[in-house]
Amino acid sequence: MKPKEVIAFARENDCKFVDLKFIDLPGIWQHTTIPASRLDEDLFEEGIGFDGSSVRGWQPINASDMLMTPDPTTAKIDPFHAHRTLSLICKISDPVTGQPYGRDPRYIAQKAENYLKASGIADTAFFGPEAEFFVFDSVRYDVSPRGSFYEIDSDEAAWNTGKPGPNFGHKVRHKEGYFPVPPTDVLHDLRAEMMSQLMESGIEVEVGHHEVASAGQCEIGMRFSTLTRVADNLMWYKYVVKNVAKRNGKTATFMPKPVYGDNGSGMHCHQSLWKEGRPLFAGDGYAGLSDIGLWYIGGILKHASALAALTNPTTNSYRRLVPGYEAPVNLAYSSRNRSASIRIPLPPGSSPKGRRIEVRFPDATCNPYLAFAAMMLAGLDGIMNRIDPGDPLDKDIYALSPEELKGVPHVPGALNEALDALERNHEFLLRGDVFTRDIIQTWIDYKREREVDAVRIRPVPYEFFLYYDV
Ligand code: GLU
Ligand code: MG
Ligand code: MG
Repeated sequence: MKPKEVIAFARENDCKFVDLKFIDLPGIWQHTTIPASRLDEDLFEEGIGFDGSSVRGWQPINASDMLMTPDPTTAKIDPFHAHRTLSLICKISDPVTGQPYGRDPRYIAQKAENYLKASGIADTAFFGPEAEFFVFDSVRYDVSPRGSFYEIDSDEAAWNTGKPGPNFGHKVRHKEGYFPVPPTDVLHDLRAEMMSQLMESGIEVEVGHHEVASAGQCEIGMRFSTLTRVADNLMWYKYVVKNVAKRNGKTATFMPKPVYGDNGSGMHCHQSLWKEGRPLFAGDGYAGLSDIGLWYIGGILKHASALAALTNPTTNSYRRLVPGYEAPVNLAYSSRNRSASIRIPLPPGSSPKGRRIEVRFPDATCNPYLAFAAMMLAGLDGIMNRIDPGDPLDKDIYALSPEELKGVPHVPGALNEALDALERNHEFLLRGDVFTRDIIQTWIDYKREREVDAVRIRPVPYEFFLYYDV
């Protein structure tokens, strides 16, 4: 939509308010609301001012004024506001120079798309993220700085709560959540409500189902789209999932490993490059891939440890990347193998158009704009330098002995390792000025101070079991 059309759309829908959203550095939507009477063409040129120093990871207090300017192509009705509200995603700029703000994650995603075109290698990058999540009946955790306990309750999980509930007698058995019908699956209607809401918001949905974990794990598949657009859609997806759960008296989380001993939640990212309508990953190499597809894999595997700082950016991310739960541990690729970091799914009928790779290590705690841009740049580095991804590993990697796994690299074991890897290796992200040194250092410092160190210095509940009577 163009600004004029957005204004007409707001009028037709009798909108009382306009909600202006933007994404902060860690990847959470922030918003501010104006009366619909302020929606005019000037708003799309001039934007509105806000205090950038109160946004995590952004401006210092002495240079706090920032501008948010709505992108008219992102107009939608926000279904979670009691009063009819038009929603617009904004770009951020500096009111003094008028320049786009270098720490605006959405700007980085747009620069990545422009760089792809300028490289001449491809004109379009498609991404298809599969974000898994848990729905709990309730969650309680210590919000004081001690953070010393948590408790979750799920109507579905027999094995870890053992509590009688309305679903007593039909509980999901351990690791058998994928995917019995109701009444065992008590979340069907909730997912259907989430799917309807997404479709009403213009986001194409492909499938919705229960996932393997027994404590209420779900997945809804959205149709792939271009890099920035799919990151916008993912923001809507998380917003819809959390708000529909809340509206039904439940709570949803994208935290990668909320339940010990059960599957975690990943966000596998399907990706492919296209040029002039041709799928560049289709060829006659391994699993129907072209050299370009294989080099792209080579780039992702080479830079995976540094990428993980952006694709798996929380301390909890690394509690998921352990053997035995369909999450990848080793940096290998394979056709159809779910224990590998990169899987090459066989599209129905093996059509070249569906030829893509599925990167399995990311999770939905990432900032999608940064994560998708970074993966694409790693893949491009692979193509530019013709990085051979080595031989595929078509075995169940979890079942291999340490001997057999010798020489197969693995994903980082903890967030601090990933941040160290990013600090050592980020030249591939600076190409075309997509990422700047400033944003990479800000990210590393923010994550080290606010998350790695904060978790490291606190006692965790299990330590009481281990050490209380030592
Ligand atoms: N939940 C698994 C993960 O952590 C993935 C299950 C699947 O293959 O969809 O990545
Ligand atoms: Mg899944
Ligand atoms: Mg998948």
